[in-house]
Amino acid sequence: MIKLKSKVRVVLFGPPGSGKGTFSSQIKKVLPDIPHISTGDIFRENLKNETPLGLKAKEYMDKGELVPDEVTIDMVGDRLSKEDVKEHGFILDGFPRTLTQTEALTEITEIDLFLLLDVSRDIITKRILGRYSCKNCGEIYNIYTLPPKTEGICDKCGAEIKFEQRSDDNEETLKNRLDTYEKNAKPIIKYYKKKKLMRKINAENTLELTEKDIKKILEV
Ligand code: AMP
Repeated sequence: MIKLKSKVRVVLFGPPGSGKGTFSSQIKKVLPDIPHISTGDIFRENLKNETPLGLKAKEYMDKGELVPDEVTIDMVGDRLSKEDVKEHGFILDGFPRTLTQTEALTEITEIDLFLLLDVSRDIITKRILGRYSCKNCGEIYNIYTLPPKTEGICDKCGAEIKFEQRSDDNEETLKNRLDTYEKNAKPIIKYYKKKKLMRKINAENTLELTEKDIKKILEV
């Protein structure tokens, strides 16, 4: 049997709704020990626990704006210094989002791959406005594209689903988030293209990717 590369350091980049979270779950099927580091998830967790970081982030998240670079970079730097990252690498989801964050990441660590998830704006809108999660375990569903196998019952934890929608998954905030993405994305993509680390993948049907496809994309 071919041994997989034990450490992979990958950045998932794409607009909100491009499926970074879903794609991360698929990577974990191939590399189960790899830490999935989502800056959005870390902010939401802090917000839930009402930490000073969470309360600060809320001001920006509610409007669909970016949390200031200093705050975000320190938070990511801290997470990337942990043992599990040293041992298994990482999937970075939602960071970097500005050129300053990109340059800071290069100071913190090398990466092996920058994956650009390419999706049309139409699909993004459907994915985001239809997205909800199980309040009990956090599993993500979509009313249009990803309903639970049995209506009203969570596939993962078996509980009757109490719908929970992200507070920033509404039409007005989404427009802001997409505009912010478009404004910042170009220089970041150019940066990684120049370093020959950029790879673009069609992310409209990532759920159909097999483990073999994922291995090929990750070059493991
Ligand atoms: P996400 O779950 O990746 O869509 O992120 C949700 C929100 O968290 C974003 O709209 C931002 O307000 C904030 N956020 C997440 N990642 C970053 C980042 N790298 N830089 C600044 N703000 C971020």
